[in-house]
Amino acid sequence: MHNIEKVIQDNMCSGCGLCVKTEKEMCISDSGFLRPLIPINDVLSARSCPGSAVDHHNGEAPYDVLWGPIFSSNVGYATNEEIRNSGSSGGVISALLDFLITSATVDAVIHTGASDQDPIRNKTYISTTPGEILRNAGSRYAPSSPLSVIRSLIGNKKKYAVVGKPCDIAAMRSLTSSDIELKTQFPYLISFMCAGVPSEEGTLRVLKKLGIKDRRTVSLFRYRGDGWPGLTKAITSSNEEHTMTYNESWGTILNRHLQARCKLCADGIGEAADIVCADAWHESENGYPSFEEAEGRSLILSRTSAGANLLNQAIQAKVIATEKFETSKISEIQPYQSNRKKTALARKLAINLTGSITPKYDKKYRLITAASQSNVTDLIKAFAGTFRRKLKKTL
Ligand SMILES: Cc1cc2nc3c(=O)[nH]c(=O)nc-3n(C[C@H](O)[C@H](O)[C@H](O)COP(=O)(O)OP(=O)(O)OC[C@H]3O[C@@H](n4cnc5c(N)ncnc54)[C@H](O)[C@@H]3O)c2cc1C
Ligand code: SF4
Ligand code: SF4
Repeated sequence: MHNIEKVIQDNMCSGCGLCVKTEKEMCISDSGFLRPLIPINDVLSARSCPGSAVDHHNGEAPYDVLWGPIFSSNVGYATNEEIRNSGSSGGVISALLDFLITSATVDAVIHTGASDQDPIRNKTYISTTPGEILRNAGSRYAPSSPLSVIRSLIGNKKKYAVVGKPCDIAAMRSLTSSDIELKTQFPYLISFMCAGVPSEEGTLRVLKKLGIKDRRTVSLFRYRGDGWPGLTKAITSSNEEHTMTYNESWGTILNRHLQARCKLCADGIGEAADIVCADAWHESENGYPSFEEAEGRSLILSRTSAGANLLNQAIQAKVIATEKFETSKISEIQPYQSNRKKTALARKLAINLTGSITPKYDKKYRLITAASQSNVTDLIKAFAGTFRRKLKKTL
C-alpha cells in the first residue's frame, strides 16, 4: 500500500491538503474532517505529508525541550486597534501579514477564514490586501486545508507567506527546506499553538446548544474574536444573535470532537514555523489561565533568523508592540501544551503497541528528554488512556 493511503487508513491524516491539486479535492468525510478525495502519491507528498513524518528542519536557534527552537520570546499585540480586536488573541499574526503585504515583501498570504458559501465551514484564502487579511483574522476551530492551494501556485514567480496549524507548517518546512526555489517562493511560514482541530460535528453541537436547529439559517459564525477571547457568535438570516463564551464552546463542546491525529500530536507549538503565536493568557486566582475578557495579548516566539528579522522590522515599524517574556514562564500560560509535549512519546507508543502507525517525529523534537520531565503518573495515564481509546475504536 502507498504511504499516503496507509496514513489515511490509519487515521493519521491531519487534512493539510498538500496531496491534492485544488481545495475542491478536499472533502468533509463522514467523521466530519477534511480528507483528500484522491490523494496524489508523489515525491512532494512523500517528502512532506505530516501524517507520515514531521521535522522542523531548524538547527539555527537554541532548542528548548518543551518550547522548541527559540530566538526570541515576547508578549505583544497589534497596535492597530481594529486588528487587535478582530484577532484571536493580540492580532499579531494578522498585523505581521498586513506588514508583509503593505511592505511588498510578499505578493500574497495564504490563510484560512469562514467560507462565503457556508459560514460554519472554512475556506483557504489567498489574500493580497489589508482588508482581506482583517476579514480572515481570528481562530476557526474547524477543519482547514491551507496547503490545498500550494500545488497550483508552485513556479508562478510570486512570493507567499503561509499561515497554518503546526502540522501544516511542518509540511511546508519539509517541502521548502531542500528546494531553494520553493524556499524563495514561500519565504515566511507562520503558525499558532494548536490543541487540535474539532470535527464539523463539534460546530453543529455548538449550534444546537445555541438553539439553532437548521445550519442553513446561519449567515455569520465566529468562534471567538471581537475582544479576547471574545464570544462564540452565530447570526441567523432573520438577524437573531446567539452567543456563548469561549470557555463553554471550546472547553465543553469543541474539544470533545478532536481529530485522531491531534490526540497524538507531538508538535502543537509550531516548531517548524518562522514565528508562532499563542494566547498569552493571564493567570487566574487558582493558578490556571484566566478566560476573563481582557485586551488581546499574544505570546510571540521567533524561531528562525527570518522570523526574528521580520519581528524586529514589525516592531521598528510600530506595527506591533511587544515586551520580553521569559521562556521559563511559558508553561504557566500554556500548561496544556507543556503537558502535551511531555506525554507525546507515551501516547505514540500506546498506538504503536496496537499495531497502527503514528507519524515519525524527527529526533530533534527530543521526545525522550521531554518525557523525562513528566511525572510517572501522567505518563501512565497518557499511555493507558490512549491504548484504551484505540482498542475501543474511539480514537
Ligand atoms: C485549531 C486551533 C487550535 C488552537 N489551539 C490553541 C492552543 O492550544 N493554545 C493557544 O494559545 N491558542 C490556540 N489557538 C488560537 C491561536 O493561539 C491564536 O490564533 C493565536 O494566538 C494567534 O492569535 P493572533 O491574534 O495573533 O492571530 P490572528 O491575527 O487572529 O490570526 C490568526 C490566523 O490564523 C489563521 N487561522 C485561523 N483558523 C485557522 C485554521 N483552522 N487553520 C489554519 N489557519 C487558521 C487565520 O487565517 C489568521 O491568518 C488555536 C487556534 C486554532 C484555529
Ligand atoms: S496529512 Fe496532508 S498530505 Fe498527508 S494524507 Fe492528509 S491531506 Fe494528504
Ligand atoms: S493538534 Fe497537531 S495534528 Fe492536530 S491540527 Fe494541531 S498541529 Fe495539526
